[in-house]
Amino acid sequence: MSAYALEGKVALVTGGSRGIGRGIAERLGREGAVVAVAYARDAAAADEVVEVIRKNGGTAFALRAELGTHGDAAALWEAFDAEITAYAPGGGVDIIVNNAGAGLYSELSSLTEEAFDAVFAVNVRAPFFIVRHGLDRLRDGGRVINISSGAARIAMPNIIAYSATKGALDNFTLTLAKELGPRGITVNSVAPGIIDTDINADWLRGDAEAEKGAASLAALGRVGQPGDVADIVAFLASDDSRWVTGTVIDATGGSGL
Ligand code: NAD
Repeated sequence: MSAYALEGKVALVTGGSRGIGRGIAERLGREGAVVAVAYARDAAAADEVVEVIRKNGGTAFALRAELGTHGDAAALWEAFDAEITAYAPGGGVDIIVNNAGAGLYSELSSLTEEAFDAVFAVNVRAPFFIVRHGLDRLRDGGRVINISSGAARIAMPNIIAYSATKGALDNFTLTLAKELGPRGITVNSVAPGIIDTDINADWLRGDAEAEKGAASLAALGRVGQPGDVADIVAFLASDDSRWVTGTVIDATGGSGL
């Protein structure tokens, strides 16, 4: 039996083909939701996630959705509409997880306007317009879950623009919760600390010293795993979280304490 009964619910997870998004997609699938696994380029990886969900008895489909340009969100929903009725007659969506995100390593002194615009386009504009264009599809009582970052409140100067995108996302969470509250829709952010995914591969993987340093930042003394975040998202997607909205849930293992 699943912990959170999501049978009959439809979930969209952006960036669902790997890392934290994959963990979220697989977890929501195990809870019984129909999962649209949105991916940018790696169709084979998205198909693998769909396969895992199906093997676990769930329902899922892959959805190509490259984000970061004007019109990306509208295109995502058009692709979604074309697929969803095969899995959930009547269409619509109950749970939107804005997980896709791009990293950007730069201090202000080396930041370019192009890089700034690109990271805001994926990390901020895309979530805004995915929800904006999804409003008519999102059912009353639904969920918007934004994957933010502990970097929005823990100062790390070499990711100054990335951190600002997550600060903006958290503010979106706060204000959107107020706007959608009358429809019974909750809106929350989950803010991970350092999680072992591709976004950190360059500096973390295979470097014992870096891993030790990263682990020591968390009160719990380890680097996080995608499942640590996915479990919180599953709670937020469920009815058990019905009185939680407009908030940022720290998923950093106590970094910054
Ligand atoms: P990841 O690099 O493995 O995954 C990022 C996902 O976003 C991928 O699926 C990728 O395809 C997708 N994506 C990136 N650019 C895209 C684009 N232009 N269009 C569509 N999809 C795009 O890293 P992750 O750690 O799994 O990241 C998931 C989320 O978690 C991101 O929002 C990230 O900012 C956030 N986060 C990660 C960490 C960490 O330490 N791993 C910490 C805090 C927050």
